[in-house]
Parts: sequence; structure tokens; C-alpha cells
Amino acid sequence: MTVEISESNQVRCLCPTCPTYGDCMRGAGERLYCAAGKSSCDVGAAGCLCNDCPVWAEYGLGTRYFCISGTPS
Ligand code: SF4
Ligand code: SF4
Repeated sequence: MTVEISESNQVRCLCPTCPTYGDCMRGAGERLYCAAGKSSCDVGAAGCLCNDCPVWAEYGLGTRYFCISGTPS
């Protein structure tokens, strides 16, 4: 299911508290990668919190690391 870029989803996104979420991503104001697509930054995977996220559960996303792989297909 396509994730909507809504205020509700932005607020619930756990990306800003994720160990993979670095200074570049924070500086760019990025989050909600499952809806917005992959990061513009050079991302080094260090763990992903998506499977603990209420948005992930609501939309039945299944996969993780959307900051690297982009929106789920
Ligand atoms: S599933 Fe991942 S990218 Fe999507 S809102 Fe949750 S933490 Fe953010
Ligand atoms: S998509 Fe996953 S790995 Fe990337 S910042 Fe969000 S929670 Fe972290």
C-alpha cells in the first residue's frame, strides 16, 4: 500500500531516532522514507527501526531500510 506523506505519518516516523539516521539526513530534514523515497545522503546501514514503527504496521510494509532502497514496491 502506498504510504501517504501526511502530518500524521511524519510525526509517527521513527527515522530521526534510528542509529542509521546521520547528520546529513538530519540536516536535510529528511524522514518518512517509505513515502518520500530514498535519502539524498550517503547512508551507512547501522540498524533500522521501521519494523517498530506504527506506520510500518498500518501499511503492512514488510521490508525495511527505505532510506537506502526507496519506497516499497
Ligand atoms: S516505516 Fe520506516 S521510513 Fe516509514 S515512517 Fe516508519 S520509520 Fe519512517
Ligand atoms: S528507513 Fe529504517 S534505516 Fe532508514 S532511517 Fe528510517 S528507520 Fe533508519
